[in-house]
This record gives sequence, C-alpha cells and structure tokens, in this order.
Amino acid sequence: CSLSDESFLSSSLGIIYSLDELWGAHAGQVDLAVGSLVWTEDPEVTWLDGEVEEVNNEEFKIYCTSGKTVVAKASNVYPKDAEFPPSGVDDMTKLAYLHEPGVLYNLKCRYDINEIYVNASYHCYYFMQLYSFSFGSGTYTGNILIAVNPFRRLPHLYDNHMMEQYKGAALGELSPHPFALADSAYRLMINEGISQSILVSGESGAGKTESTKMLMQYLAHMGGRTTTEKKRSVEQQVLESNPVLEAFGNAKTVRNNNSSRFGKFVEIQFDQRGRISGAAIRTYLLERSRVCQVSDPERNYHCFYMLCAAPTKDIEKYKLGNPRTFHYLNQSNCYELDGVDDSKEYVATRRAMDVVGIGSGDQDAIFRVVAAILHLGNVEFAKGEEPDSSEPKDDKSQFHLKTVAELLMCDEKSLEDSLCKRVIMTRDESITKCLDPNSAAVNRDALAKIVYSRLFDWLVNKINYSIGQDPNSKTLIGVLDIYGFESFKTNSFEQFCINLTNEKLQQHFNQHVFKMEQEEYTREEIDWSYIDFIDNQDVLDLLEKKPGGIIALLDEACMFPRSTYETFAEKLYQTFKEHKRFSKPKLARTDFTISHYAGDVTYQTEFFLDKNKDYVVAEHQALLSASRCPFVSALFPTLPEESSKSSKFSSIGSRFKQQLQALLETLSATEPHYIRCVKPNNVLKPGIFDNSNVLHQLRCGGVMEAIRISCAGYPTRKPFHEFLTRFRILAPNALDVSHDEVIACKRLLEKVNLKGYQIGKTKVFLRAGQMAELDAQRKEVL
Ligand code: ADP
Ligand code: MG
Repeated sequence: CSLSDESFLSSSLGIIYSLDELWGAHAGQVDLAVGSLVWTEDPEVTWLDGEVEEVNNEEFKIYCTSGKTVVAKASNVYPKDAEFPPSGVDDMTKLAYLHEPGVLYNLKCRYDINEIYVNASYHCYYFMQLYSFSFGSGTYTGNILIAVNPFRRLPHLYDNHMMEQYKGAALGELSPHPFALADSAYRLMINEGISQSILVSGESGAGKTESTKMLMQYLAHMGGRTTTEKKRSVEQQVLESNPVLEAFGNAKTVRNNNSSRFGKFVEIQFDQRGRISGAAIRTYLLERSRVCQVSDPERNYHCFYMLCAAPTKDIEKYKLGNPRTFHYLNQSNCYELDGVDDSKEYVATRRAMDVVGIGSGDQDAIFRVVAAILHLGNVEFAKGEEPDSSEPKDDKSQFHLKTVAELLMCDEKSLEDSLCKRVIMTRDESITKCLDPNSAAVNRDALAKIVYSRLFDWLVNKINYSIGQDPNSKTLIGVLDIYGFESFKTNSFEQFCINLTNEKLQQHFNQHVFKMEQEEYTREEIDWSYIDFIDNQDVLDLLEKKPGGIIALLDEACMFPRSTYETFAEKLYQTFKEHKRFSKPKLARTDFTISHYAGDVTYQTEFFLDKNKDYVVAEHQALLSASRCPFVSALFPTLPEESSKSSKFSSIGSRFKQQLQALLETLSATEPHYIRCVKPNNVLKPGIFDNSNVLHQLRCGGVMEAIRISCAGYPTRKPFHEFLTRFRILAPNALDVSHDEVIACKRLLEKVNLKGYQIGKTKVFLRAGQMAELDAQRKEVL
C-alpha cells in the first residue's frame, strides 16, 4: 500500500497502550526500593536525579544530587541507570531505560564532550532486508539523527578526511553523523534504485542549514566526477547555489545570525552510475516583510549590506553609501555581524554567482535592483496640493525617486504616479484617486516587496536553469531544510503556514514509521497490538480542507471587499465551535487557538488577510514591465489574461498549500531519513545546555514521539541464533535438550523470567529495556 493509503492506519489499531506504558515503566509499575537511583520531574530544571530515601505508599521521598529533598508521586518517578556511561551512548535505543529524562541526560552528556550527534532509531527491518551489509550485534539502525548545535566549529567534524571515513562504512559502525546518514541514503539509492530524502528540521538557529550543507557536500563528494572538465561541474554549482541563496534569502535575526528566511528543498538527480547529473531547488515562503521592516537588533537581507560595502566603483555606480543612511536598514541599529566582512561577502557572492551561471550583465542588473530598493525606501511623502494627496517630501526624496527611476530604467513621472496615485476601475470608467502620504508609503513598501520577491524567484529559476535537470535520471536524493514548528508570544500567518508544514511532515513521518513497523510484525506473524498513535488528520482538515478549512475561509474573506480580520475571526468561531482542535481563547476577540501535534498555538488574526493577499498593484506591473532594462521588465512579464487593469487577488496560503502537496508527493516516492536539529540555548553560545529548552524541542520535533513508538512496540529484535549466542549463558541447558532454536529461545526467556516479549518466525522481539535487563543478568553470571 502507498504511504498515503489510510486504510493501513485504521487497521493498525489494536490494544491501546496508555502513555505510561509507552515510556519505560515508572515507579508505580516497577519496584523501586530505598536506595534506588531515580529521576523525577521538576518544574524548574525539568528533571532531577537522586536517590530514594523513603517510600510511603504512592509517594517517594528523594534525596537529589542537587542537595534538595523532594517528595514525588510514584507515577512521576523513573528509574535511573546506575551504570550510565559517563560519555553517554551514541544511540538512544541503547539506553537501558528509555524514557524522557534518560534521553535528555544522554544528549547532555554527549554534548558536554563535544559529541553533538546522537541517533534515535526506530528499528527498521526494511533496511536490513534491502541492504545486505550487517549491522553488527547492535542490530539497530538510526534513522533519526539528533544534532545539537555546538555553536563553534568542530574542525574534525567536517573535513574531507571525515568524508572518506564514512564512505561505505556500515551505518552504526562509526559515530552518528550527517555523513553517515547521507552515505546510507546514497548507497540505498545505488543498490536498490530507490529515491531517498533527508528531512532536516528544527527551530531557527538549531543548525538545519549547516547540516543541509554538510549533506550536500557529502553527496557532491560521492557523486562528483573524477574528470576535470572545463565546464563548471554540476556538483560545484549545486554547492555554490548555497551562498547565492543565502546572500538574498538569509538575514540576522534574534534567533540566528544567519537565519534562512525561506524553506528549501534541493533535489539532487543521479545517473545510472551514481553520478550527479542534475539538480532542482524549490523554495518556499520567502519572508517579504523584512525588506521594508526590520526590528532592532535584527538586520535586513545580507545582500543590502554587502552592496553597501562593495568596491568604490560599484558604490558610485549605484549611488550608495553608508547603510545608516537608508530607511530600510536604519530601523535597526545592527549593521555589522561578528566575524563577517560584508565587503568580502560581496566578492564571494559575485564569485558564487559566476559559478552558478549568472553572467556579469545579470549580476549588474541584480545589484541595480537591490540598490533601487534601498533608494525607494528613502522616498518619503508629504501632503500634496490637492486634498488627501501626496508628493515626494523634499529634494532628498526627489533625488531618491529619480535614482530609483534611473536604476530600474523606468520613467520618473510614472514611478511617482504609481506611488502616489491609484487608478480605480469601475464597470464603465477608470477614476484616478490620490493617496494620502501614509497610503503612499504603504504603496511604496508594497512595490519594494514585490520587486524583491520577484528577484529572489528569478535567482532560483536561473540557478535551476543553469544547473540543468536530467530528464533521464531515475533516482534522486532530496534534502529538505525547512522551518520547524513555531510558537511565539504573537503568532501570525507565517507561523500558521510553518505549522501547517510541520503537521504535514509529522503525518508523513507517522505513516512511514507505522507502516514499517506493521509490515515487520505482519511478516513475522507475531501477535501485535499497537498504539493509537496521535493521528493529526483532523488538524490538517481543520487547516487546509477545501472547502471549509481555515485557509479556504481566509481566501473567501480576502475576496470579499468588506471583510476585516474581525469578521474573519467571527466566521472561524462560528464554523469551528465544535471542533476539538480549535478554540477561542477566553477574553480574546479575534485570536484563535489550534491544538497542534506539538502543542497549542494561539494565532492573532490581525494581519492574516493582508499577508494572504498576493497581488501586484496594476500600476506597478505596468511601470516595471515597461522598463527599458530587459532584466527588470522580465521580472514583470505581462500575462495575456491580465489585460484588465485591476489588481487580481491570489492567495499565498492556497498556493503554499499546493506547493506542500507537491512536496509531499515527491517525498512519498522516497525513502525518508531524518535529522532533528536542536538548539541547546538561546544565547547562541557554545557549552551551554539548557534542559528545558532542549526538552521543549524534542517534544515539538517529534523525537520523543518517535522514541515512544519504539518503546510501544518491540524495539529490540534479534534473530534466534544471535540471541542464543549472546544469552545462552543465562540458561546453559536450554540448547542441550533440544536443537530447535525456537524452543531454545522460549526456554531461555522463560527461565530469565521476562514478560511481554514475542517470538516471531525468525527473531525474538523484545520490549524496550528488556535487552538491558538480559544484559544485566548476563553480566552477573559472567
Ligand atoms: P538554522 O538553519 O536551523 O536556522 P543554521 O544552520 O543557520 O540554523 O545554524 C545557525 C548557526 O549555528 C550557524 O550560523 C553556525 O554558526 C552555528 N552552527 C550550526 N550548526 C553547526 C555545526 N554543525 N557546527 C558549527 N556551528 C554550527
Ligand atoms: Mg536555516
């Protein structure tokens, strides 16, 4: 059945485990005597560790290592592994006790010794079947790589030598690493001819883009050509697309000094021999508002500052100067970045543009447009002679207006009109209406934003065109670098779209994992009951169902001239009164709350309508399509159906929804791998591991969910023979009596008094933690 086949999901519901059962057992379920080491949840530091001092019925008195004594309910006390290795374990499923505090503590131990990668595998038999190499005695395969941002370069981690090591190494043989993941994806693709995808997620500043670049670097290394052709190689172009897109799509934010303000899916195509033969980049939702609105201490897009730091001849050509003189930049007090020299970045960006096939003529036009946007921002408006009209405020504004016209090669008077006036079409005539200074400024910003977003799209298209697609490629590896789940103090339309993305990806993930698990159990003909995993189809319906979902209602509101965000909110309240994923916060008038898989998020509807509307003001379209600069006019092609002069509404939400759908279709045809990036602190400094921060991300990122899935099923599986070899010592007689391995395994398991395991056709299936128990017994005997 296909991944989108829903029937397997509904048929997979057997006995429903309680949440407690999913995690390793707590003190209410296992015997924890006085003297046991335990974890207990604490509102401040998330989890405290200590020793049980007293047990009274359901209450435990715990003496914590912090020196504090606390009393906790049994259900909130979890066993702590007395023999926890000080440097942690490289795979979560190797933990003797697989529960939240254990997972968190393991990450911290690893981080403290600069081991930033840990696997959190859900067992994947599928891989073992497909792939003929052995996984060693661990028999785990890590499909989720957790990467904690070190906030410092760890040079040994990224170099060529490291890549060579991972080349062809069995997954699990070397430490967890994005190279290991990329290598296994590459080899799966080569050996089995199946397309692969690597999904990188995490909150802003967690390290997604850095990880993505490492993946691309590795794939380029593996799929590169040995011959040195004169023409730029595809893999070089693929790699150099990064700095170009970062110059125009990244900015400093409070969360990340080099924050990507767009989502990206890079599809690398391979030929029959496993060499890179083409690539396509798809981008999502570039943040447009940043072009004209920056809050302290953030920055606008890097390219603006680079251009202001360009060599003198360029500065003169574009009439630029100190970035502090430009309104679009000086709303924030931040101009420079630590460790970044914008003048060098300018040169580097130009060089990268050369590599990806953007010629010097186009480069000149691109920076001319960037300069024009800066000048445009400096055009201010004052009241004009007629009532409610406006005009450029003074000579300075007039100068900038003139410069914009020169740079964009359009008529100065038309430019002024397109900023200060609006033509309104009625059925039989057109009326020219003047705009007041405020509206003119809004109009100016709209022009800046549309020009910038068209420029960005042009860059992406150009890169795709010059790298080229390989129509004969049968397999690809896609790398997705996309914003993780967001929940801020105020959440607007952007967060809405981002969280929709994450709901979709979460569903994809669930379906994938559950499908794998179910197939394995069915194959082994074991009696399997499964958890009622949190299916988020209902949230997705609420958000994107057509008709009737929130996006559809938003589009309706955008098309109806008299709608406001108040009427939109009212409509939502009425429509989803009974929906269990939707609620209206008490006291709120226009906010709404959605219960996402990762938690509740309250959205402010205030700018939803504006932000969902994507249209080019007809005057702007006319002005720029008439530019004498072919580059500029090509950014605004006149489409035949746009002959009418009115500005047409097109929905950003709906278009994004379609893009997402297309992305998921691509992903469903691939074998997915996951990297979950974690940001250890909010001050972006090395060496600080903030427990509650990390825990929040693990919960939101589905990592805990994934580990829970492993706990709920039978995460440890060992072929009979291996199992016996390892544990024979626990029941030396078991094999002597019978030569049947199945019977021997049964005897052994009875003897050691385990409960809840299963015997399959070829393997023993153990519940979470049982392996650790057996190992412990084995140690005693040894
Ligand atoms: P995201 O794309 O998730 O927002 P980035 O990948 O841009 O985050 O990472 C933010 C910053 O963190 C980077 O600019 C870099 O300074 C640092 N960083 C992230 N990952 C690593 C890493 N593996 N090694 C060193 N520094 C890193
Ligand atoms: Mg990024």
